[in-house]
Amino acid sequence: MAIVEPVIRPPSEADSFLLQVTLGCSSDSCSFCGAYKSKPFRVKDPKEIMADIDGYARRYPGTRRVFLMDGDVLVLANGKLVPILERLEQAFPRLCRVSSYANGSNITRKNDYELTKLSEHKLSLIYMGLESGSQLVLDRCRKLSSVQEMIEAVHKSAKARIKSSVIVLLGLGGRKYSGEHVRGTLEALNRMQPRYLSFLSLMVIPGTPLAEEVRMGNFIELNPAELLKEAYEIIKGLDLKQTIFRSNHASNYLALEGTFPKDKPALLNILKAAMQGDVRLRPESLRGL
Ligand code: SF4
Repeated sequence: MAIVEPVIRPPSEADSFLLQVTLGCSSDSCSFCGAYKSKPFRVKDPKEIMADIDGYARRYPGTRRVFLMDGDVLVLANGKLVPILERLEQAFPRLCRVSSYANGSNITRKNDYELTKLSEHKLSLIYMGLESGSQLVLDRCRKLSSVQEMIEAVHKSAKARIKSSVIVLLGLGGRKYSGEHVRGTLEALNRMQPRYLSFLSLMVIPGTPLAEEVRMGNFIELNPAELLKEAYEIIKGLDLKQTIFRSNHASNYLALEGTFPKDKPALLNILKAAMQGDVRLRPESLRGL
């Protein structure tokens, strides 16, 4: 099985079969993202994908979870996706979950019937990088999906019984648009009501357009205290009915976890203590993407 590096997957997919279906990201436009600079978008040869599935099934027939890579496999039409999902179901009798990254238009371009078909073939979770709920912040970082499109995508997926795990990028507005980032993000999340939510913290990657903005003085990064404050303000404004929250990604200064609405007061208390210096933060040297 020839996986083209780098491999990027959510922390929760550490034990899944990582099946590469596409390479790179079809938009590859976001100014902060250096994830797939080394691999232009392309779809893998279906014969190679099927051979990868069969090869893995011979070694690990009891596989229960599969994560489809790279950036946005769901850009593919159902005519290409469904045969892959069918092969996975045949190869792994105990399969219970297939998941993938997705952007807004991957989902909104599919109709309800198409999404339901995917869900019937065990695609049951998408990871969506909202990054920010502020359209101004998204436009500034050249993300192609709009806030409205991503809200619609989460609702459409839920209707087809596909859960969403939404990712927010703390610090993406920089110092100038931090307030805008907080306001827009909590509003978008309240409208989405995602099943899962996670926070990452912005790390400026050398060679990206954002790194150039920083160099020119057009973007000022938030310091750890300001990032904690953003997390605090967003969580304070959240009115989520049933959402599992994790911020265990290595980019964060503080790992948090809980379930909304039950754990909201506890999460705010931990953040308040961290802002007062009473909680040890992850050292800069241990942060990573
Ligand atoms: S959509 Fe995701 S993978 Fe693609 S460039 Fe933006 S952040 Fe990177």
